[in-house]
Amino acid sequence: MSPTAARITAVDTYDIRFPTSRELDGSDAMNPDPDYSAAYVVLRTDAEDGIEGHGFTFTIGRGNDVQVAAIDALRHHVVGRGVDELCADPGTLNRDLIGDSQLRWLGPEKGVMHMAIGAVVNAVWDLAAKRARKPLWQFLADATPEWLVSQLDFRYIADALTPDEALALLNSGREGAVEREGVLRERGFPGYTTSPGWLGYSDEKLSRLARQAVAEGFTQIKLKVGADLADDIRRCRTARSVIGPGIRMAIDANQRWNVGEAVEWTRALAEFDPYWVEEPTSPDDVLGHAAIRKAVAPVKVATGEHVQNRIVFKQLLQAGSIDILQLDAARVGGVNENLAILLLAAKFGVPVCPHAGGVGLCELVQHLSMFDYVALAGTTEDRVIEYVDHLHGHFLDPVVIRNGHYAAPTTPGFSAAMRPESIAEFTYPGGTFWAADLARQGLTDQKGAAA
Ligand SMILES: [Mg+2]
Repeated sequence: MSPTAARITAVDTYDIRFPTSRELDGSDAMNPDPDYSAAYVVLRTDAEDGIEGHGFTFTIGRGNDVQVAAIDALRHHVVGRGVDELCADPGTLNRDLIGDSQLRWLGPEKGVMHMAIGAVVNAVWDLAAKRARKPLWQFLADATPEWLVSQLDFRYIADALTPDEALALLNSGREGAVEREGVLRERGFPGYTTSPGWLGYSDEKLSRLARQAVAEGFTQIKLKVGADLADDIRRCRTARSVIGPGIRMAIDANQRWNVGEAVEWTRALAEFDPYWVEEPTSPDDVLGHAAIRKAVAPVKVATGEHVQNRIVFKQLLQAGSIDILQLDAARVGGVNENLAILLLAAKFGVPVCPHAGGVGLCELVQHLSMFDYVALAGTTEDRVIEYVDHLHGHFLDPVVIRNGHYAAPTTPGFSAAMRPESIAEFTYPGGTFWAADLARQGLTDQKGAAA
């Protein structure tokens, strides 16, 4: 078969769940017992190269089956597409998925259906970068500005960012890109760690992990806050005394507060010099964030991991609601929409410090920040990628952290592929781990009951 005839032959999905709630890893004020999970998708082709596209979106347990069902609902848009055309223009599939006139009712462009689109679109970018034999960050950085602009959907954002402005930003972003690529390969991209700060950890564990983070070269840590103010004061004091004044300490409330509470609580913690307060309130509350930002300055306001699409990001930027934009690789509609979000941030001069952690979010999002550094924003000043040291061993191309920096991936693709043995063990409910666990509880056939 000639390569031009190759087609997508299958869209296979997997419900993969890790029992993280048992160690309180990932615990915060809104999510006390997450089982970090991936709704995972593999695009298979009949091309002779045997290359597959891998993608996923992240959930925290129950509902991962709903997320998988949403990906399944997109299958008919993908199977049968020509692989060359798909990889030459992922934007067309992106628009077709968003434009499905019946599925669109479930959004539009938000929630479970949109995250499903993100998983599929990201799998296409994984496939395209692998076929080009480049890690995704480099695939994007090497692309022409004109082609990148063609991959964006300007619908609903053209009042804030026009195609001409996007092109101008990408053209100026190319100046010095070769030198920056060298720096990136040499030094990596700065990270910060949330590992010390989970709410369920003891003060002893917090101190130990904070000390370890500084020793490992991180210049910023983050603490979960928002459940109990007296606890937060004690934990922030403990962390600050361990890390000293020269290390940045962010706090993250995971949407716990009303606007007024967010202001009072942040002011009560101000003596510990928090660098940013993250998700102080609902991710949909554009004007609430603006009010909080005004009231808590100089503490910066950050949000984004639950911001559902480029349109809400546009408004957060237009309203002056955020100092830090925290895009997520698997929340919105995939790489195409994240390119639009990176360009919006560049237009408004707001630094992007991506959300990561979860399952595989570090693996994915590093590529977007590295592209941003090399070929768009052109700087790492005040830019850090979140890092959490969980679950990386389940990936074939796990992130590598050196001296507090993400090392630039060299393996082709989006670093999305999970180890086959991990998939076999943690697929829910039939994988070896869960089958044994559910059998112990007498719950073999009650899908969802024990997650
Ligand atoms: Mg967060």
